[in-house]
Amino acid sequence: MTTTLDRIAPFKNEVIKNFTDPADAAQMQAAIAAVRNRFNEHYPLVIDGQKIETEKKIRSINPANPDEVVGLTSSASKEQAQEAIAAAARAFESWKKTTPQERASYLFKAAELIRQRRYHYDALLVLEVGKTWPEADGDVAEAIDFLEYYGREMLRYAQPHPVVPIDGEQNEMVYIPLGVGAVIPPWNFAAAIMMGMTAAAIVAGNTVVLKPSSDSAIVAAWFVDLLHEIGLPKGVVNFIPGSGSVIGDLIVSHPQIRFISFTGSKEVGLHINELAAKPQPGQKWIKRVVAEMGGKDSIIVAADADVDAAVEGVAVSAFGFQGQKCSACSRAIVDEKIYDEFLDKLKTRVAKIAVGDPTDPKNYMGPVVNESALKSISEYIEVGKKEGRLVTGGNRVGEKGFFLEPTVIADVDPQARISQEEIFGPVVAIIKAKDFNDAMEIANNTEFGLTGSLYTSDEQKIKRAKEDFFVGNLYFNRKSTGAMVGAHPFGGFNMSGTDSKAGGPDYLLLFMQAKSISRKV
Ligand code: NAD
Repeated sequence: MTTTLDRIAPFKNEVIKNFTDPADAAQMQAAIAAVRNRFNEHYPLVIDGQKIETEKKIRSINPANPDEVVGLTSSASKEQAQEAIAAAARAFESWKKTTPQERASYLFKAAELIRQRRYHYDALLVLEVGKTWPEADGDVAEAIDFLEYYGREMLRYAQPHPVVPIDGEQNEMVYIPLGVGAVIPPWNFAAAIMMGMTAAAIVAGNTVVLKPSSDSAIVAAWFVDLLHEIGLPKGVVNFIPGSGSVIGDLIVSHPQIRFISFTGSKEVGLHINELAAKPQPGQKWIKRVVAEMGGKDSIIVAADADVDAAVEGVAVSAFGFQGQKCSACSRAIVDEKIYDEFLDKLKTRVAKIAVGDPTDPKNYMGPVVNESALKSISEYIEVGKKEGRLVTGGNRVGEKGFFLEPTVIADVDPQARISQEEIFGPVVAIIKAKDFNDAMEIANNTEFGLTGSLYTSDEQKIKRAKEDFFVGNLYFNRKSTGAMVGAHPFGGFNMSGTDSKAGGPDYLLLFMQAKSISRKV
């Protein structure tokens, strides 16, 4: 394993498979069959390297066919969550003294194994969270990217950091880890975000308890197995699936937890932030909360835009992975001069979207993640029908899986609920703007600030949007989804989070603290 900075290749993003190659497609079909063969398997908790089966289980089901159980994980009790934190605290004493090179080497080894098992991870995401093949592969490719990128980043941070020289002193500044962290990922980038958050924490020298989302606990269990396989010391990553409401608060408020790395909804993120701010008896630090939260992302289509390109960008940003991306376009703000043309073309484009079981590569949209998502999105569609004009979609597809039609609602008021609240499903609100100034004002009128796009051919509008479009990730003449590690450091403003940038050069700093050392000579 080559781990010094001068011997590893520069970071490069994994190439995403397009599955038009019959050999790739055949491998994917075989992997889907292999994962199906593992349905109903049981996955234990892992605390201090010990595998623990509990009587209580969490069932992870296939949202395309809820009768199928992809796997069952054990479910941690409050006592087990406490044991996991204690194990992480013990492991921290030795892990913090390992070299950054050694820690990075585990990330590189993990990346290599996932690369070898790429189709199997892809297939698991198709079956566990309802991703289409390309969406699943994008998620797994991003997971590999995070491992490779953060490994290199740690090696960079391990280099000397220049400080101003002072006569008679030898000065240095080094980055040291924080301690025990709680890693709490969402289900929607079930591989990438879960692995990225875990990898960033441990490569910086911290130890963690990983509490996966119950909707995607099996991919997390696979990853924890893989970390065991590559020989990661016990106690560095402790795996405690469990209900957020049962063990979530306990983990977040535990006095031995030094930081919380959370990605999920605004509501849960704010709750965690509040709880973590209150010091507990025996707690010696102010907890650090890194929270990456929801979005209400807009694509502005200016009068001078290439309308066909904008229609394509809105369609894929709104309906890729059923709109269940924090970066998904949930509002298209369209100049009134091209509004009717845009809507006609969008309707035609959306009619081509095939909805169905994502194991069949012909389908562009699979199911939404679970029954409660189906219900809450359907409720928003009903609200939307009153707040605007239903252009297409609005119905459930079939009766078994959690499938919904791609839904377009036009003539929506900028202050309407479906224009302000995160729906997290295949629903896009179309808002008419008087002109570009009006469009910019509407775009900034939510409490979020995650992603945004502008379609225009006018340099002045681009200049204005660079200054005034208040989002963490701004795109021009392209979709609002699909951020690439390293190229598009990702994270939003306002209620979209604590201003962090995953996959960027500042990210590892969130898991470390700087120590300044001065010696008289
Ligand atoms: P969620 O908030 O429901 O759950 C996120 C995680 O928090 C899960 O693991 C869940 O079990 C856990 N949790 C729930 N209650 C808890 C509690 N009281 N204490 C501790 N943990 C608790 O979100 P979700 O449905 O998994 O994910 C979708 C949300 O995530 C959307 O809002 C989306 O915009 C957001 N998201 C944001 C980003 C980003 O980078 N900003 C990326 C992906 C997803």
